[in-house]
Amino acid sequence: MIVNMLFPGGKAKAFTLSYDDGVESDFRLADLMRKYGVKGTFNINSGIKRIRDDLDQPDFEEPRCRMNRRRFLEFFEKNSDIAEIAAHGLTHASLSLMDQGAATWELISDRKNLEDMLGIPCRGLAYAYGTHDDKGVEAVKACGFRYARTTKTTGDFSLPSDPLRWACTCKHTNPQLMELAKQFVEASEENEMKIPYLFSVWGHSYEFNLADNWNVMEELLECVGNRDDIWYCTNIEFFNYLHAYHSLEFFADQTKVYNPTAVPVTLRVMLARKDPIRIVTVNPGELAVLDPRTEK
Ligand SMILES: [Zn+2]
Repeated sequence: MIVNMLFPGGKAKAFTLSYDDGVESDFRLADLMRKYGVKGTFNINSGIKRIRDDLDQPDFEEPRCRMNRRRFLEFFEKNSDIAEIAAHGLTHASLSLMDQGAATWELISDRKNLEDMLGIPCRGLAYAYGTHDDKGVEAVKACGFRYARTTKTTGDFSLPSDPLRWACTCKHTNPQLMELAKQFVEASEENEMKIPYLFSVWGHSYEFNLADNWNVMEELLECVGNRDDIWYCTNIEFFNYLHAYHSLEFFADQTKVYNPTAVPVTLRVMLARKDPIRIVTVNPGELAVLDPRTEK
């Protein structure tokens, strides 16, 4: 038996964005994402003054202007169907410079604030400044995050090996961005694509203001967006799916599998190499037969 994970709908490719700091230009980015059918994650520091104290109307002319509380809630209301709101630390402090108690507070109080404001679980994090020494990772684990994004990048489409030290494919400033995008779009089973791919891009939307290059994001989304063979997901949707896959209870010989989660999980199944491929979705609570010969 050869069994591989596929993404929802039997897709073999997933795409997601991760953008930091909760700035006004996230509105413009979300509008672009919607236009191209793409989803993503916005990482927020709930303890900065503008959100905590709901300071006055932001100065929209300032390219890095952060959202105040009212604008942040407006952003969530408008975009909750395509955007995950994740933590980015209460005050954007570097965890590596803090003791364990302070680091834990920086993370857990950010989670608590976001959950109180939005009324949904907050289980995603992007490390402020990307700093993530072992002590910081311990604090992240203790605070119950499912994944934590670094600023490291892989330059490929491999699935995250350690969700609490997640490295994206690239930042949008990478000169290879469009080369990677084309490679991702053209990858197919006929093209020797044997395992599922994840293309993940991170950055700050204010960088497009500062460099006056919103066309970079538009070109990227024009290339990878609105395609039938790509699963567009937020970061937490991706990691929740991965978690559901890893929670599957396979028989020792892989002939059957039980799904104890609330998430349907799709698999690519071959009885032997070169046998026809079957796409099997294992629904929540279902015991699925992967090898029909065992039914006789
Ligand atoms: Zn940041």
